[in-house]
Amino acid sequence: MNAIPPSLGDKTAKAVSVDHQPLYADRVRIYPQKVEGPFRRFKWAVLVLLLAIYYLAPWLRWDRGPGAPDQALLIDMPARRAYFFFVEIWPQEVYYLTGLLVLGAVGLFLVTSLFGRVWCAYSCPQTVWTDLFMWVERMVEGDRNARMRLDKGPWTAERIIKKVAKHATWVLISALTGGAWVMYFTDAPTLVVDLLNFQVTGAVLFFILMFTATTYLLAGIAREQVCIYMCPWPRFQAAMFDEDTLTVTYEDWRGEARGKHKAGDSWEGRGHCVDCLQCVNVCPTGIDIRDGSQLECIGCGLCIDACNRIMERLDLPKGLIRLDTVSNQVARAQGGAAPFRLLRPRTLIYTGLLALVAAVMMYGLATRSTLEVNLLRDRNALFVMLSDGTIRNGYTFKIINRARADREFILTVSGIEGATLAVLGGSSGSRAAVFSTRPDQVETYRVFITAPRQSLDGESTDISFVLEEDAMENGENVIQDTVFLGPKR
Ligand code: SF4
Ligand code: SF4
Repeated sequence: MNAIPPSLGDKTAKAVSVDHQPLYADRVRIYPQKVEGPFRRFKWAVLVLLLAIYYLAPWLRWDRGPGAPDQALLIDMPARRAYFFFVEIWPQEVYYLTGLLVLGAVGLFLVTSLFGRVWCAYSCPQTVWTDLFMWVERMVEGDRNARMRLDKGPWTAERIIKKVAKHATWVLISALTGGAWVMYFTDAPTLVVDLLNFQVTGAVLFFILMFTATTYLLAGIAREQVCIYMCPWPRFQAAMFDEDTLTVTYEDWRGEARGKHKAGDSWEGRGHCVDCLQCVNVCPTGIDIRDGSQLECIGCGLCIDACNRIMERLDLPKGLIRLDTVSNQVARAQGGAAPFRLLRPRTLIYTGLLALVAAVMMYGLATRSTLEVNLLRDRNALFVMLSDGTIRNGYTFKIINRARADREFILTVSGIEGATLAVLGGSSGSRAAVFSTRPDQVETYRVFITAPRQSLDGESTDISFVLEEDAMENGENVIQDTVFLGPKR
């Protein structure tokens, strides 16, 4: 087994020496500097893609037939339905949402164990909106030095105008974000028309304002403080890391001893880090990656872009800061190399889990029934003895018709000789009952079974309700087993 180089060991020692650390450090204002490079370009591409999906998805339409909402993605709270293109989830099917959450969580574990904090770096909403807000800030107030000068200077007209312009743009983006969020819960075009006519309900207005305020506060004001102090994910994601996980790493064995460098000076006996602090200046959380792996590092790679430009200028090999694994760093420090391993026990387990949950969900969706029956036996009274000596039991029958068409069903009961059916407000004393159900509705019926006492097995007789669809073909059937109670013999 490879020994960890002394430099990496020093970092561990530094990391555990946390005596007398304050619980919450004073906030040091961060002025991230503009940077260019492959990581920055990738970050912009993901940001544009995710924001486009977020703002435009509620406008996608999906024809579900007459009477049904045509918004492709919709959580319809009053109707208690969730629509996802061709999938329609009822409250009784909330396990699909649970499955989606499990898929998301296991997928995140897999990606994290392979590529480190890519979620934090590129796709976490906090990162995406903070990045967008920082871009606005840079457009209005200028790059790092200009912003620092502006904040240190007096409150001139220029400073006031710039601050008002920046905050007004932030509020506008926040309001669009809050409005877009509510569109996932109501018809988007209708909401826009209602907003333009000042006709939104108090609840809609409350949620738009709430999401506007939280976007403004989290992305504009709190920024990196959310990642450092509020978010639980950085605290337990380390459990998914191993020595083959990619993380942003400073090659201290190559960079140290650091120091300023003048053109023409020799590189003999010193490291390649010229202490220019470019990696620190571009960092959105304001840390120095040269201090080693830190909880505050979201893994965005912007310091890699910054350092590579310096290395290029100095005609030194790029990658003093790089995305790398501990295994490879240990090997490289000793002049070797360790290839990146995709297949490891933990990634195989996560992939297996992911495939299993996805397969179960696909099977559930493929075999999903448009008919569901819930049956509840009366508890009070358990049975009634009628004047002619027969015994009657009551049941509440719920037929969930998930199809978008009227459907007829025939209900029969088996298990007791001579039993008859009666439906409250409908037929009585017959061997079968007919139910008409409306499309996309839950219909509730009170059903009574009356049976001769001599036909019962005793206090409890097993019976079955059979609900058959009255259709020419492809009709659905449901059998519900229950009991019929009677007096002691
Ligand atoms: S240290 Fe580098 S990778 Fe980590 S957050 Fe800062 S810029 Fe991003
Ligand atoms: S950007 Fe590179 S050279 Fe400059 S301080 Fe950071 S690690 Fe050293």
